[in-house]
Amino acid sequence: MSSPDVSLRRLSRRTLLAGLTAGVAMAACSENPATGRRQFLLVSDAQLAALGAQAWVDLQAQTPLSRDADAVARLERIGTRVAQASGRTDLAWEFKVFDSPEVNAFVLPGGKVGFFKGLMDLAQSDDELAAVMGHEVGHVQARHAAERMSQELAVQLGVQLAALALSEEYGQNASAIAGALGMGAIYGVILPYSRQHEFEADALGVDFMAGAAYAPSAAVTFWERMIEATGGGDGQLAALLSTHPASDERLERLRALAAAA
Ligand SMILES: [Zn+2]
Repeated sequence: MSSPDVSLRRLSRRTLLAGLTAGVAMAACSENPATGRRQFLLVSDAQLAALGAQAWVDLQAQTPLSRDADAVARLERIGTRVAQASGRTDLAWEFKVFDSPEVNAFVLPGGKVGFFKGLMDLAQSDDELAAVMGHEVGHVQARHAAERMSQELAVQLGVQLAALALSEEYGQNASAIAGALGMGAIYGVILPYSRQHEFEADALGVDFMAGAAYAPSAAVTFWERMIEATGGGDGQLAALLSTHPASDERLERLRALAAAA
């Protein structure tokens, strides 16, 4: 049985937490100029970039890089153009082809972009590769990883630790945050994006690929083919859709975006 003073203490703790939540939310909510949407962010770009760099090293230790010089040069050329068009020339962009039949691509915070050989082979033109590249660069520009991680932090660690993450001392140690979350290197790769994040990345991606003089209509043809092909239950193809959920609604929006670009 609990004594009255215990519940009182609980109450005051709850009050304290409520106050902390409000404080954290006020400190962390800011508008993203790329999307015009307010975001709840508990981690800084620098913290995320440090995590991304670590994950990038780990991934390259796990999956061999492609020795196909043409594919490597091709991705490098497309990535450089699209990243330039995004305006984020402040980031240390890297574009690498991983030697795996998986049909997928990913981006890590800080601008580390990986394409698997399976996707390189499936895309039918530079424009289609640029469409996927634009989408991945869009995730960076819209700070989706930071947003997703902040939500995870708030949920998993509770408000007290989220507040700690804001403090200068703890906040500088990005790997400690990742460790506490138990996510480590795979963070930012395996978790699927939300519908909202996919829509935003599509919109930014079409902008960026058009800005880099690639044909926006390739975004539509690429995703149409992907969605159609995965209907056949191809596991290799399903990888891309598992981390970048697609739907008829998304395709409709892509068609409108490409037509307006
Ligand atoms: Zn995506």
